[in-house]
Amino acid sequence: MYHFEFDIAAVCITLFIGYYIIVKKGVRRHANRVYLGMLIFNFLAEISDIFGSIANNNPQFTTTAIQDFWNYLYLSSHNIMGYIFMMYVFYMIGYEKSKRTPMLVIGIPVLVELVLLFSNPFHRLMFYYDEAGTYLHGKLFFIIYAVALSYMIFGIYLTVRHHKGMTKEKAYALLFFIGITCIPIIIQMILPYYLITLFFETMGLLCLLFTIESKEDTVSPTTGILNRYALQMALDRALNGKGNILLLVKLPNLNYYNKMIGFENMNGILKRMSKWMDESYAPYVCYDCGRGHFAVLCEGIKDEDISAIREKTLKRFEMPWGKGEFSIRFPVQFGIIRIGEDVKTVENILMLIDSRFEGKTSADLDVAKAVKDYERGVLIERLIDKALKNKSFQVYYQPIYSYRTGKISSAEALCRLVDDEYGMISPDEFIPVAERNGTILEIGQIVFDDVCRFYQEANLHMRGIEYIEVNLSVVQCMSKNLKRLFDDTLARYSLDAKYINLEITESATTGNQKVLFDTIKMLNESGFTFSLDDYGTGYSNITYMYDMPFSIIKIDKSILWKAKDPKTGEGQKNAIIFLENTIHMLKEMNYSVLVEGVETLEQKMFLESLNCDYQQGYYFSKPVQKQVFADYLRVVNA
Ligand code: C2E
Ligand code: MG
Ligand code: MG
Repeated sequence: MYHFEFDIAAVCITLFIGYYIIVKKGVRRHANRVYLGMLIFNFLAEISDIFGSIANNNPQFTTTAIQDFWNYLYLSSHNIMGYIFMMYVFYMIGYEKSKRTPMLVIGIPVLVELVLLFSNPFHRLMFYYDEAGTYLHGKLFFIIYAVALSYMIFGIYLTVRHHKGMTKEKAYALLFFIGITCIPIIIQMILPYYLITLFFETMGLLCLLFTIESKEDTVSPTTGILNRYALQMALDRALNGKGNILLLVKLPNLNYYNKMIGFENMNGILKRMSKWMDESYAPYVCYDCGRGHFAVLCEGIKDEDISAIREKTLKRFEMPWGKGEFSIRFPVQFGIIRIGEDVKTVENILMLIDSRFEGKTSADLDVAKAVKDYERGVLIERLIDKALKNKSFQVYYQPIYSYRTGKISSAEALCRLVDDEYGMISPDEFIPVAERNGTILEIGQIVFDDVCRFYQEANLHMRGIEYIEVNLSVVQCMSKNLKRLFDDTLARYSLDAKYINLEITESATTGNQKVLFDTIKMLNESGFTFSLDDYGTGYSNITYMYDMPFSIIKIDKSILWKAKDPKTGEGQKNAIIFLENTIHMLKEMNYSVLVEGVETLEQKMFLESLNCDYQQGYYFSKPVQKQVFADYLRVVNA
C-alpha cells in the first residue's frame, strides 16, 4: 500500500506557491522561467504520484493502461524536474547564455532515461506488473536513482565552485534544496511505501521562493520597478558573463527637488520617470536604486544601442516631467559601466551607483575616475586602520605668531599619517575618509591626548604658549561621550580646558547645527574656547557664527593669497578690499582674527598693517615634530 498523504500536503504547498506568484504582481512579471518550470513539473509529478498510487494500490479496479499512464507521467515528470533543477543551478551561476553546451551535455542522462522509460512497454526493464497487477521496479530502475543522485552531486559541486559569484543567500538556498531532497531518499529506504520525496522537494522550492525568487522585497515601493537589492542579485550573475553593460541614469540633487516641490510630488515624478525608463529601455531591465539613481542592466548589448539609449534619455530629459505647476526639467547624468572590465566587484558597482555628483546640468559620469577615487579611498581606509593598529599617527605642531607680543603665542596641532609603503598621506585626504568611516573619533582622541601630554610635559605655558589649537571634526561633535573623553584626558594630565582652543571648520556649520551648537556650548561651559577655521571658503553661515561662542576667526589662506600672492607679491584689487574689510569687520565684532598661509615677509607686514591679531604659515614655520617645535620656541620666544 502506497501512502500518498505527503503528496497531498505537497500539492497544497505547490498551489500556495503558484497563488503567491500569480497574486504578487512583481513576482509574476519577473518570475524566473526556470523556477516556474520546476514548479510545473513538480506539480505534475505530485498529481501523477497520487493517482498512480491509487491505481497501483487498487489494480483490480483499474486497467493496465490507466496504471501505465500515471506511472509514466510520474516517472518522466519527476526525472525532468531533476534536469530543470540543474538548469536552475546553471542559471544561478550565470551560465545560461554563454555556455549552452554544458547544459545540453548535462541533459544526456535524462534523455537516456526517458528513452528507456518510453520503450519500457517493450522491455519492461524499468517497471512491470505481476499477475495481480502489483507495480514492481524493473532491473534498470536503479538508473533513475543514479541519475538523480549524480545531478545532486553535480549541483553541489557547481554551487560550491561558483559560490563566490553569487550571494551567500543564493548558495545556501541551493544547498538547502539539494540537502532537503536527499533526506527522503534515506527515509524511503526504510519506509518504501511512504511517498515523501515530493513533499521535501516542495519544501525546497518554497525555500527557493522566499530566498531567491520572491521579488516582494525587491520592488521599490516608490516607483514599482525593481530595486537595488534585485540589481545586486542580478549583478553577481552579470559579473560572470561577458560583454555586459550597466547604464547609470542619475538625477543629481534629488534632495533639493524634494524640498522644492515636496516629497509627494517628487515621488509622482520619479514614478513617471521609472515607468518611462522601464518601457523605453525594454528588453533591458531598469532598477530603481534610490535617491534618484537608476541602473539599466544590458546583457549582450551592442555599442550603437548604448548610444541610442543615451540619446533617447538625454532627449527625453530635455522635456519637463510632471504636470501643471510642478512641470520641471531635470538635469540627468549618464554613465556607462562595462561590467567585469571597468569594475570587477558588485561592491564597486554599487559604489558607482551611489556616488553623488552634484552638477546642475546634464553630463556624462566619469566612471574611470570614480572607480579610481573609490579605490584610493579604500586604500586610505586600510592605511588608517594600519596606523591605528601600529600607533603610528603623529601629531605635528605649527607655531602661531601674535602681533601684539611679537612672539609665538600658540600652535596648531596637525595630524600626520606616514606609511612606510605609501609615504606621507595628506590630512586633506585621510581626514574626510576617517570622518566617513568613523575612525576620526579615535584619531581625534590620539591628537587630543598628544596635545595635553605635550603641553604639560614640555611646560609650554611657561614658554609663552597660551593654548594649543586642536581641530575638531563635526563627527566628533556628534559623539555623545566627547565631553567625557576630553574631561578624562585633561584630568589625566591635570590640565585646564582653557589651554585648549578647539577649531571648527566653517563647512561644519552648514550641517546639523542643533547638535553641533549643543556640543560646542557644553564644551564651552567646561572651559574650552573655540575658533572658526577656514573662514571665507564659501560656506559662510553668518547667523550661526553669531550664535556660537567663537573667540578667534581663522581666515583661510586662499583669501590671503588672492590679496597678496606669495610668489609675485601682487594681489587682486577686490581681494585686497575684501581681506581688509573682513579683518576690520571681524575685529569690530570683537573677534580675534588669525590669517593662515603666511609664507612671505611681505604678507606678514601687510597683515600687520591691517592689525591682524595672529598669523600662521610657513614664513614662521611649517608644522613640525614636538621636539623641533620646542627647540624653535627656545630660539624665538627667548
Ligand atoms: P587646517 O586646520 O586649515 O590647517 C591648516 C593647514 O594649512 C595645514 O595643512 C597646514 O599645514 C597648512 N598650512 C599652514 N600654513 C601654510 C602655508 O603657509 N602654506 C601652505 N601651503 N600651507 C599652510 P595640513 O596639515 O595638511 O592639514 C589640512 C587640514 O586637515 C587641516 O586644515 C584640517 O582641516 C585637517 N586636519 C589636520 N589635522 C587634523 C586633526 O587632527 N583633526 C581634524 N579633525 N582635522 C585635521
Ligand atoms: Mg585648523
Ligand atoms: Mg584652516
